[in-house]
Amino acid sequence: MDSTGTTTASYVAQGGNDPAAAKHLAHAIEIATENVRNAGGPFGAVVVAADGQVFEGLNRVTADLDPSAHAEVSAIRNACKGLGTFDLSGAVLYTSCEPCPMCLATSLWARIDRVYFAANRYDAADAGFDDAVFYRYFEGEDSDRTIMPVAQETLPPAQRVAPFTEWTTLSTRTEY
Ligand code: ZN
Repeated sequence: MDSTGTTTASYVAQGGNDPAAAKHLAHAIEIATENVRNAGGPFGAVVVAADGQVFEGLNRVTADLDPSAHAEVSAIRNACKGLGTFDLSGAVLYTSCEPCPMCLATSLWARIDRVYFAANRYDAADAGFDDAVFYRYFEGEDSDRTIMPVAQETLPPAQRVAPFTEWTTLSTRTEY
């Protein structure tokens, strides 16, 4: 974080004064604040699809007993359901707070074009939402992956790749 309170993570570009971005971020902040009064977490997100349609998402982790119910993931799920697609190419994600690694990965899988956020990870940490340990995990600083070891178990190769064998021989598969 620099002296202006802006994150300096390498993948985060400095935003400008984009009025459209400011408008959508204001909306994300509004629904995030409202969500707190409705038993949700203090996070909200908006997906603006390529055709201009707007889809909202809220953090409902504790309300829905769903660790993956982050605002950004919820907005992406709502956009995909609403548009009838799993590919959000051309869409922009606006979120009230810097996306965690899960939400960044979900945005990548959804082929989101661009992400804007309002509060940064340090603002979130100040409020008790510190995912620095997850960032370190993915950025390789916790190289031993001590908080959650991940290991490939040795199995016979044919067994190991059986789902892929099934997939590559299926002529009706939908590529993604
Ligand atoms: Zn997240």
